[in-house]
Amino acid sequence: MRDLVGAAALAAAAWIVPASAAELPIFDAHVHYSHDAVESLPPKAAAALLRQAGVKRALVSSSNDDGTQKLLAEAPDIVIPELRPYRTRADTAGWTRDPGIVAYVEERLAKYRYVAIGEFHLYGADADLPVPRRMVELARKHGLMLHAHSDADAVERLYAQWREARILWAHAGFERPEKVREMLARYPTLVADLAFRTDHASGGKPAPEWRALFIEFPDRFMVGTDTYVPERWHFVPEHARWSREWLADLPPDVAERIAWKNGEALFGAAWAGKR
Ligand SMILES: [Zn+2]
Repeated sequence: MRDLVGAAALAAAAWIVPASAAELPIFDAHVHYSHDAVESLPPKAAAALLRQAGVKRALVSSSNDDGTQKLLAEAPDIVIPELRPYRTRADTAGWTRDPGIVAYVEERLAKYRYVAIGEFHLYGADADLPVPRRMVELARKHGLMLHAHSDADAVERLYAQWREARILWAHAGFERPEKVREMLARYPTLVADLAFRTDHASGGKPAPEWRALFIEFPDRFMVGTDTYVPERWHFVPEHARWSREWLADLPPDVAERIAWKNGEALFGAAWAGKR
């Protein structure tokens, strides 16, 4: 009988451990809900998908910004809005040389509240063009984080313009872990999302160089799906599941931070103070 009770307790424990890992809340730091996504996946369905995935919070931006506002209205408990400086997907390529972008960003900032500007694409010396410079000034004026899909060079140029900037480095710049370490060490207000990369984990385990980096800088990473095209929305639950799997291999406090606590600390309070 005692053996049976022991076996039952063991079975229960074995069940409880994966179940709690499966329930790890996710702060998805890289969600776009652009005009074409709004059409194919209306706000109610998008919100339901986030809930189904166990995404408790998401940093959401869109081209244009209407998608973000619609999803925020549908799921104010989940969505934390950031302002993408794009009116349509086509602005991704030409925005750094288009003064119309400044007028658009100013108009949205006057009308709505955000915690960040981004995600924007900006590389090398383009960071010092007048339009990006003006965007950085507006971010400074409104106390907004910068969400930069950038190479290390552009990140350095953004910090040269605004020494106290807080930058969320999209995709950790698609850089190798050694370069990410160098940048995190040099810039204490730099944090990174791991969206749309798979090199940091496989088979439910972080890669060794990345594991060392997560443990060295547990407060500086977040996960993200990057729904840059509508079809990627259906990957949100799978991304959350895959993330929980490799996060479970890290010390629990580090896993919790990367899964949701860092996002909550960086954006949750800031947003609560603005809404
Ligand atoms: Zn993106």
